[in-house]
Amino acid sequence: MTFLNAGIPGPRAVSRELRATSLNESQARGSKLVARSFPRHLRQAFSAFAFLLSAFVLAQDLPSVKAQAKLYVDTLASPAFQGRGYVNGGDSIAADWIAKQFDRIGLAKLNDTRFERFHFPVNIFPDSIGLRVDGRTLIPGEDFLVDPASGSSDGEFHLAHLRLDDLLSPERKALTMGVIQGHAAVVHFPPTTDRDSLQLYRELENELARYVPVIRPGGKKLTWSVAGTQARNAILEVREGLLPDTAVQASIRVYNSFVPRHQARNVWGVAKGKSKDWVLVTAHYDHLGRMGQALFPGANDNASGVSMLLSLAEWFKKHPAKCNILFVAFAGEEAGLKGSEWFIVDRPLDFARIKMVINLDLNGTGEEGITVVNATEQQKIFDKLTAINKKTGALPQVKARGPACNSDHCPFARKGIPAIFIYTMGGVAHYHDVYDRAETLPLTKFDELYQTLVTLIGPLK
Ligand SMILES: [Zn+2]
Repeated sequence: MTFLNAGIPGPRAVSRELRATSLNESQARGSKLVARSFPRHLRQAFSAFAFLLSAFVLAQDLPSVKAQAKLYVDTLASPAFQGRGYVNGGDSIAADWIAKQFDRIGLAKLNDTRFERFHFPVNIFPDSIGLRVDGRTLIPGEDFLVDPASGSSDGEFHLAHLRLDDLLSPERKALTMGVIQGHAAVVHFPPTTDRDSLQLYRELENELARYVPVIRPGGKKLTWSVAGTQARNAILEVREGLLPDTAVQASIRVYNSFVPRHQARNVWGVAKGKSKDWVLVTAHYDHLGRMGQALFPGANDNASGVSMLLSLAEWFKKHPAKCNILFVAFAGEEAGLKGSEWFIVDRPLDFARIKMVINLDLNGTGEEGITVVNATEQQKIFDKLTAINKKTGALPQVKARGPACNSDHCPFARKGIPAIFIYTMGGVAHYHDVYDRAETLPLTKFDELYQTLVTLIGPLK
């Protein structure tokens, strides 16, 4: 993989960085002098002022990392990384590459190791897949998806079009199950966003899939994910308009492979600080991988967050923060926060010493600013963020959101460890699909977010 390292530029803008550091140090000396002679409330007011001042000065002097970040994203989202999933060792290739970057940057290991190993079950589709409806070949990833929990089916099938009514009462359902033998079932359920209804639909599909392949007509947008279970037959989702209820026949070729113990690794790197406390900067590196011949590159989700993590690691290796910083590139996020859940169980450091977890996921746009998840629970750090941004005007918006279990900050927050999750808003909206590519990821506010985070994290204690 050495060719992948070749394009990444070395240290840059060193003199500007030095200037920023010395300014910061003189401010620190100033604030100590004040501490001795001023009453407490004035000291607090002064330290807030110093914090803002450092925010202002630093933001002007920090280097641009966007060009380098683009190389990181290009690499992580390239076909060689297999979508950083479960086919052809994609996530493992990414883990090794990130470990190499941590070595190059000079980050220390944690507990004498670079990797935290764990495992979980995953259902995968390593072989080429196919779907033809009435002679029309559909393109995997663009026209249809294999349900993450799909089983295998191979053959020509007459289509049995079913409505919800055909499956609700036990008598009717028994009749339906008899009739559909040898067919593929197309389920025309009424559109809904209601959680309970959706769950009922999935249960009915799984029940049907015990006997026959199932095809679900989907919406305009196909959104894939990862499952740790498998059905008995294929379950497919076809994009809106490509499976009319007049369709007669489908040719299906789907082979799944169930991996009960997929081996995965979180990657650790430490930038030593000036105290015994810790700040964690985290970003998951895994993505959805491959679905047959379809590749899910995961540029925004989350090559962008890993690039931000690497950029911050380079800064804080050269300019130690108050706290030690543990950089964690998590595996298994898309499979259900497996890497961060395992970190909580494994407990590799004293949780009482973790002052803040800053989780970065979907950092590749920013036209409309950033959202901070769990901000309402972590008001102090959110106030610091907004104060910095008010001073610098770097980001068009810093929006607060409540708790949500939608990324790797969640297991920490649930354990009572202070944690926030930052994602960018605006720009391209490709999500969990084959279009989340490096070529179209703008990294619009990457530098601005980077500079904001450097300013935020440095003095945290
Ligand atoms: Zn993600």
